[in-house]
Amino acid sequence: MEWPGYRDCVDADVVVVGAGAAGLAAARQVSEAGKRAIVLEARSRIGGRVHTDRGFAGFPVERGAELLHGSSSLSRTLAETAGLTVLPAMSIWRGRVVDGGRVRRLLPWLLPATGRYVRIVRAVRSHGLDPDASLGDLLRGRRAGGRLGRLAVVLANDAGTDLDGLSVRYLARVMANGEETSRQARVAEGYDRLIEYIAEGCSIVRDAPVTAVRWMSDGVQVEADRCYSARRAIITVPLGVLKAGTVRFEPPLPPPKDRAVTELAMHPGMKVLLRFTSRPWPAGASYLLLDDDVPVIWPPHPDAPVLTAFVMGPRAAALRRPPGPVQRVVSALVRVWGERVRRDLVDAQVVDWGADPWTLGGYSSEPPGSGHQRAALAAPCGPLHFAGEATDDIAPGTVSAALRSGRRAAVEAIRSIDAAATR
Ligand SMILES: Cc1cc2nc3c(=O)[nH]c(=O)nc-3n(C[C@H](O)[C@H](O)[C@H](O)COP(=O)(O)OP(=O)(O)OC[C@H]3O[C@@H](n4cnc5c(N)ncnc54)[C@H](O)[C@@H]3O)c2cc1C
Repeated sequence: MEWPGYRDCVDADVVVVGAGAAGLAAARQVSEAGKRAIVLEARSRIGGRVHTDRGFAGFPVERGAELLHGSSSLSRTLAETAGLTVLPAMSIWRGRVVDGGRVRRLLPWLLPATGRYVRIVRAVRSHGLDPDASLGDLLRGRRAGGRLGRLAVVLANDAGTDLDGLSVRYLARVMANGEETSRQARVAEGYDRLIEYIAEGCSIVRDAPVTAVRWMSDGVQVEADRCYSARRAIITVPLGVLKAGTVRFEPPLPPPKDRAVTELAMHPGMKVLLRFTSRPWPAGASYLLLDDDVPVIWPPHPDAPVLTAFVMGPRAAALRRPPGPVQRVVSALVRVWGERVRRDLVDAQVVDWGADPWTLGGYSSEPPGSGHQRAALAAPCGPLHFAGEATDDIAPGTVSAALRSGRRAAVEAIRSIDAAATR
């Protein structure tokens, strides 16, 4: 390589930018292939959007990712391999819904809407072709409001957006490709223990925000706390960080990559953690559909008086407005259980991922009409490989997606280094 100052750089086969699930999975795979990987992480901790808090309550509380989605997802399989305790969570049987100020069991409440629900799912599945529409449009076209509308709001919230921001073409694709997600679970020891397991043996430099990546046909030079040079780089910074241009690429990334970064969406995402002296919600409820402002809340532990509100997309931005997220969530709870909620509140924390400079959003989503951009975001570009939840087509916005994408990018980088060596 011919860059000035090259001799002063720390050298590796692969530099990985970001020590979240994607970056660590990539680094581990590269190391296991006998190549030297260095992970550069902007924060002083690893894990990215996996961040377990052990100070808020007497048990691990998740500020970011919380669930292992599905019985055979990659995150769950790895958690079991790591010997972690995997506990069932979010059973629909124990779901509740607040309707007309009263708390009801979710399944009997949903029953009258089942026929229409099945028809909507069929409509979504058969909607794989153009023209695209938003889920909001599809529901309005079928005059499906009421209970189905409530359910759809929760679905869009889970997808990191709202009804008008959710592409039906995307939903159809995820339904066709996606993993089984009905059986949810938590890691009793904390999600970060899974991250630590994946990170074992990886060479990680913390407090090393990457500001520039210079690339040419067969090598990269990366500017962070110091200079690093490598044969290949794996970029795993979140979509929000790519959108913000925090990392300067020299030369700039080609137009298809730029288009993918622009067309995919990254809305704010928020958790509000609340601790009370006692629990106003019914014992045994695994989650509650609350209202339009706060679509879903849940107790992260079955026996503790702690609640997590989970608000994604434009609703998370709305929650920031005065009097602020805590007061807005508490007011929603007061509407159900009265003023005792305010009186019994001991502590609260807002985790606003959209305001976090190293994430700048909750997770990626696909607005209606956006092209199929995840493949373009994932595509290698010279010596640069791309990973992270936003590049996954099976279950984007999950830890499994990030892990899978990291492994995929590692395989690409290893093959490309080996191919160059035989030329
Ligand atoms: C509130 C919330 C709840 C969620 N719940 C779940 C859930 O229950 N289950 C689930 O499976 N998923 C969940 N997710 C999604 C899951 O957390 C993410 O999909 C996954 O963790 C993303 O991993 P990643 O490696 O792609 O990105 P990240 O974890 O964001 O990692 C990227 C890393 O890059 C670093 N970085 C950024 N910029 C730079 C730079 N310039 N230089 C160096 N490093 C940089 C960041 O600090 C970060 O460590 C949730 C996400 C949120 C926000």
